[in-house]
Amino acid sequence: MLDVGRHPNIELLTYTEVEKVEGEPGDFEITIRKKARYVEEDKCTGCGACAEKCPTVVSDLFNVGQGNRTAIYSWFAQGIPSTHTIDPDHCRQLNGKKCGICAKTCQAEAINFDQKDKIVKFNAGAIIVAVGYDVFDPSRIPEYNYEAIPNVITALEFERFLSASGPTEGHLDRPSDRAIEAEIKGLEKKFKKSQKMLDKFEKKHNETSSKFYKAFQSGEYKDEEDYKKWADKYAAHLTIATPLEDLKKKAESFATAKKLAFIQCVGSRDFRFYPFCSGYCCMHSIKEAIIAHEHGPETTSTIFGMDIRAVGKGFEEYKVRGGNNSNISYRRGRVAEINEGANHNPVVIYEDTLEQRVKREGFDLVILATACEPGKGTEQLAQLLDIEVNEFGFFKTTPSLPLDTSREGIFVCGCAHSPMDIPESVAQASSAASRAVQTVVGKEMRKAS
Ligand SMILES: Cc1cc2nc3c(=O)[nH]c(=O)nc-3n(C[C@H](O)[C@H](O)[C@H](O)COP(=O)(O)OP(=O)(O)OC[C@H]3O[C@@H](n4cnc5c(N)ncnc54)[C@H](O)[C@@H]3O)c2cc1C
Ligand code: SF4
Ligand code: SF4
Repeated sequence: MLDVGRHPNIELLTYTEVEKVEGEPGDFEITIRKKARYVEEDKCTGCGACAEKCPTVVSDLFNVGQGNRTAIYSWFAQGIPSTHTIDPDHCRQLNGKKCGICAKTCQAEAINFDQKDKIVKFNAGAIIVAVGYDVFDPSRIPEYNYEAIPNVITALEFERFLSASGPTEGHLDRPSDRAIEAEIKGLEKKFKKSQKMLDKFEKKHNETSSKFYKAFQSGEYKDEEDYKKWADKYAAHLTIATPLEDLKKKAESFATAKKLAFIQCVGSRDFRFYPFCSGYCCMHSIKEAIIAHEHGPETTSTIFGMDIRAVGKGFEEYKVRGGNNSNISYRRGRVAEINEGANHNPVVIYEDTLEQRVKREGFDLVILATACEPGKGTEQLAQLLDIEVNEFGFFKTTPSLPLDTSREGIFVCGCAHSPMDIPESVAQASSAASRAVQTVVGKEMRKAS
């Protein structure tokens, strides 16, 4: 990626949207909207001082909603260009409130609240569509209870948990435990504030609040306004202190997830949703189970699937190595249902097709290998480019010209074409680039002759 950023023949137009494509193969005129970042790209050093001070905290989409970011943010640490962006939907200043803390913090004077979107036009001989894919929303399968059971997560969420720069810094903390820890943090803040208030009364009357409250309730204190106020404050304090203590006790038993289940073909090879195989998910589940075992050698993983599709050079060996060295067992059977057991443990109900028996087993964490589906904006982009999509919604090509879309001079590669892994996407991208060169050179040669 760094090479792309530095390459003299590559111009990166990030944070942009294509608005119009006119012209013909060899000479397309493309109109794009360069969206306002409210940060000057050439001044921002990417130091992050602004984000450290920004008071607005929102859910972080890069971490698939499993962590938070501030209203001024960088999408991810290694992004190019290395610049921050202000989120106009959440920034206080851009929504009519007083703030501007980032502008005061930024030593490079890069913040510019007056920045506007820019319309940029440029010409290109050919176009390659490489807009990728989205992951299937598993809440469409109600029997898997993805939304109801916190410890049922997607493989993409699990990738972020495994990452050292992710929301759990690589620790397999369970979402149910994280929710309680967040609750504890919130209550601790309230507790501190309320304790500060009680300290004032205790100092004034030289008495602890608990002793005072007992005496007040038994009628020892007269109904003076000050005592009434103290009693009310202490009663309110107890509504914070009691659940806080209970939650803290509960948190003492929290441990990272050790017993994992991976459920394959969630939305794929399922005629209710996508009949095709998404190709890469068997391998990413094995990879994730191997990494989880590297993080904690006592971790065990069960991969549930109709079959494991380890198609590719060295893939079968990788699968076997996972079984031999990384505590992975492969269970042949399609999971019928996931329910919630004690301690928020997901319970997997499945048919073991080898033993021909319905079984149930509890796990610390269940990871869903969701299908690869066309990106949300695919249809809109297809209309804008005047190209066709296929029956599943991916950009349409033909078997004899697998990279050519239905419009001459426009090509497609990677998961925008169909589900495929990274090596295949990269190989297709090279092929698409060659087809694009053929279009450009062919046009130039025809012009010259
Ligand atoms: C959980 C998980 C783990 C995986 N692990 C592996 C693995 O270990 N190894 C492996 O080989 N494969 C893995 N894969 C598969 C891998 O993600 C894909 O093969 C790969 O991302 C496909 O690359 P792509 O460039 O086609 O699409 P993407 O990676 O989706 O990239 C497309 C890019 O285009 C951008 N974009 C979208 N729309 C527009 C638009 N209108 N204008 C401008 N930009 C746009 C997107 O923001 C995105 O950055 C995994 C997949 C999942 C779900
Ligand atoms: S102005 Fe907006 S981005 Fe800057 S610190 Fe305030 S809320 Fe954050
Ligand atoms: S790669 Fe494996 S999990 Fe993914 S759809 Fe195909 S068989 Fe199912």
